[in-house]
Amino acid sequence: MADVTIIGGGIVGLCSAMALQDRGYTVEIIERGEIGRGASFGNCGLLAPGEVVPVSRPGVMKNIPRWLLDPEGPLFVRPGALARDLTWLLRFLRAGRADRVRHIASSLTPLMKRVNADYDALLEAIRRPGLLSQVENLMLFNDRAEYERDRFSWNLRSELGFDHTFISGSQVRELEPAIEGPITCGLIMKDWYHFTDPLALTQALADEVIRRGGRILLGEARSFDSERGQVRSVKLLNGGRIDTKQVVLAAGAWSGLLSRQLGMRIPLAHLSGYHVQAPHPHVHLERAIYYASGGFVLTPMATGLRIGGTIEIAGPDPKPNFRRADVLAERAKAILPTLDITGSTRWMGARPFIPDTMPIIGKAPAFDNVTLAFGHGQIGMTLGATTGQLVAQLIAHENPAVDLTPFRPQRFT
Ligand SMILES: Cc1cc2nc3c(=O)[nH]c(=O)nc-3n(C[C@H](O)[C@H](O)[C@H](O)COP(=O)(O)OP(=O)(O)OC[C@H]3O[C@@H](n4cnc5c(N)ncnc54)[C@H](O)[C@@H]3O)c2cc1C
Repeated sequence: MADVTIIGGGIVGLCSAMALQDRGYTVEIIERGEIGRGASFGNCGLLAPGEVVPVSRPGVMKNIPRWLLDPEGPLFVRPGALARDLTWLLRFLRAGRADRVRHIASSLTPLMKRVNADYDALLEAIRRPGLLSQVENLMLFNDRAEYERDRFSWNLRSELGFDHTFISGSQVRELEPAIEGPITCGLIMKDWYHFTDPLALTQALADEVIRRGGRILLGEARSFDSERGQVRSVKLLNGGRIDTKQVVLAAGAWSGLLSRQLGMRIPLAHLSGYHVQAPHPHVHLERAIYYASGGFVLTPMATGLRIGGTIEIAGPDPKPNFRRADVLAERAKAILPTLDITGSTRWMGARPFIPDTMPIIGKAPAFDNVTLAFGHGQIGMTLGATTGQLVAQLIAHENPAVDLTPFRPQRFT
């Protein structure tokens, strides 16, 4: 029996496995599909330490009702999901009040201050530093007024030590000559970088976990056997049972079902996102670009140019509406007119989203041998290595590197 059984082979589960192995624990990962093929596969690949301000926030809140009615807008709720996720949505909107946003941003800051160093160490350990491109991201606007309207967030980020440099449209074009269209200004995001291939990253992590003696088991965790406040085994869909000493629940957007089996009701929604990836885009970008006015991200990856983003509340495991992905590609052409999407692939995946935009990192209240690590929303790639460290610190009874009170699972009871 391994010392620790991890449910979920996404970025969070894999980073937790590595950090536990660093401390001498033996690990096994239960994955129901392929390693790294959940949200950790199709994201935009940004390492975005300054992304401490939640999606719902002053300045953006007033746009939300309009977006909700536009199936091609940046945030859409499918009519069928509205009733099911209404309570979640109201909590999400409430988290956008200025005082709550300040609390969320300051709580995330100590985590975000660690992400660059934690990934440097992790990539060094797997001997793949090139999987992170350290050219700073750009954020682009059609109009300076759009930046000014979100002043609250920019000031808050600066107060918390996440800096950016404002640049003109011509400076944008000096940095990225391929950019055309209506852009008049941009920001260089200090210390924001991008992963060049998220799947290669999770696969390299899995290879290293195995090389160090870890096991990856194919199976779908469904429930648990427990006695006297301890989980004793994980029960699988196929009837199998894996005896366990310690469990880490890191099943991304699907962790809600399993946490219910542990007696918790955590408000975890699936927020779908999409990407289109052009294998031969015929445009060259040096860095990842968040086009704020278009609501999408362009990331130059080793496998092509990825155009990703949008939030859709459609319930768990919905049928993809690839029109949302096509809209991203159409909008990208407005600033990259020579973009060629021939042979492109489209993807939909689920962000594991807690209404306050903060992950759950902590011990399960009723089972002290279960550690929860999910709900990383739109910042799970960024927080992967740091979450892994925190999970390992909790299990090893070390003092966590940051105060985990804001991330405790009991915060909703
Ligand atoms: C369009 C989009 C763009 C994004 N862009 C960014 C970005 O630029 N930067 C950033 O930081 N974050 C980004 N994110 C968010 C980020 O991708 C996620 O927060 C992160 O990948 C979550 O990692 P995870 O390991 O928790 O979940 P996942 O990667 O989803 O992994 C969970 C794993 O658990 C497995 N699993 C589920 N249930 C079970 C079960 N019962 N038994 C066994 N296995 C199970 C799944 O198969 C899956 O492999 C984006 C997300 C989307 C959708």
